[in-house]
Amino acid sequence: MTQPRNIPFGKPLLGQEEIEAVMAVLGGTQLVHGPRAKQFEADFAAFCGGGHATSVASCTAGLHLAYFDLGIGPGDEVIVPAETHVATAHAVEFTGANCVFVDVEAETGNISPDAVAAAITERTRAISVVHYLGLPADMPSIMMLAEKHGLAVIEDCALAIGSYLDGVHCGLIGDVGCFSFYPVKHMTTAEGGMVLSSHRDTISRIERKKAFGLDRTVTERSVPGIYDVTMLGYNYRLNELAAALGVEQVKKLPAFLEARRENTAVLRDALAEIDEVGLLWAGDDRFVSSHYCTAAILDDATAPRRFEIVRGLNAAGVGTSVYYPRPVPHMTYYREKYELPVDAFPNAARISNQSIALPVGPHLGADDMRYVATTLKNVIKETLP
Ligand SMILES: *Cc1c(COP(=O)(O)O)cnc(C)c1O
Repeated sequence: MTQPRNIPFGKPLLGQEEIEAVMAVLGGTQLVHGPRAKQFEADFAAFCGGGHATSVASCTAGLHLAYFDLGIGPGDEVIVPAETHVATAHAVEFTGANCVFVDVEAETGNISPDAVAAAITERTRAISVVHYLGLPADMPSIMMLAEKHGLAVIEDCALAIGSYLDGVHCGLIGDVGCFSFYPVKHMTTAEGGMVLSSHRDTISRIERKKAFGLDRTVTERSVPGIYDVTMLGYNYRLNELAAALGVEQVKKLPAFLEARRENTAVLRDALAEIDEVGLLWAGDDRFVSSHYCTAAILDDATAPRRFEIVRGLNAAGVGTSVYYPRPVPHMTYYREKYELPVDAFPNAARISNQSIALPVGPHLGADDMRYVATTLKNVIKETLP
């Protein structure tokens, strides 16, 4: 019997560099509108290999701004994958437009292009794409549909920092990409997000719309305090404390991502030995995943014991999660609003109901991965009736 370990599902890796960067902000006078946000934006875009970026208060705020900027509203439809964080759908709802949920592919958890094609109507304005657990979605098929029907494509890249398709970073394939710096994600600013786009105009407009729609930024004002308002806007900026964290975390991203890649390889190999566990597709040479976590999908006979298995893992020190706890259309708000049939999203439902999300973050190493797999194998046996 091996000793129990402490393997959290996610853990922010903040070091002396981050502490010093935050202290430097606290010792100054500029807490918002400062140079760190600008630096973070430039560094993040450079990490992604190009495009333009503007920092925001969260990924959710970024997604809201993306739809707000499209000018969509009541009567419009946006196609949204059923298997995602509620934020993906909420951002559409904020505008008054309706979500049209479609199922995901069983092999990847990513939005199914066939399902998208079948859901397009005269009212469709945009397609929302989520790169599920960091594996890029089938963007070539999605972009073809978007071009054919004149639709915008918004990429929810909350789990896709370091995800590339055919050498292009996710977020730069569609019209706009939105990233999250929530604590358990690939890097953190406590709360925070980034909007990335290959279109400079889009980012320029979103820069205004995240700051009340003012006509000029603080540095562009010749007389302090004097500005005009040319459009409606929110207050969705990222503050300098968060941006200072971001500047330091971006530097560490290559090492974080490499650790995730190595951990995932060890974990997937070990999980392949467990008959009751299935894995999602790992991608081929065209796909670079950010390896957010590994979903262990329990077979039909084992799935009814999932919570018991999770408790066993947690008791042995293995942190777990579920991505995501229900298909979004099955969440009460959406179920009551749209009244969709419960069996309409079988692939999303299978992932939500039968998977356990296992950690692969850079706070862990190969030994931890082997421990996670061995523990899972043992717990599955122990919970047999
Ligand atoms: C975490 C997550 C979000 C929300 O990100 P915030 O920065 O917390 O707003 C949105 N979409 C997906 C797919 C996520 O996993």
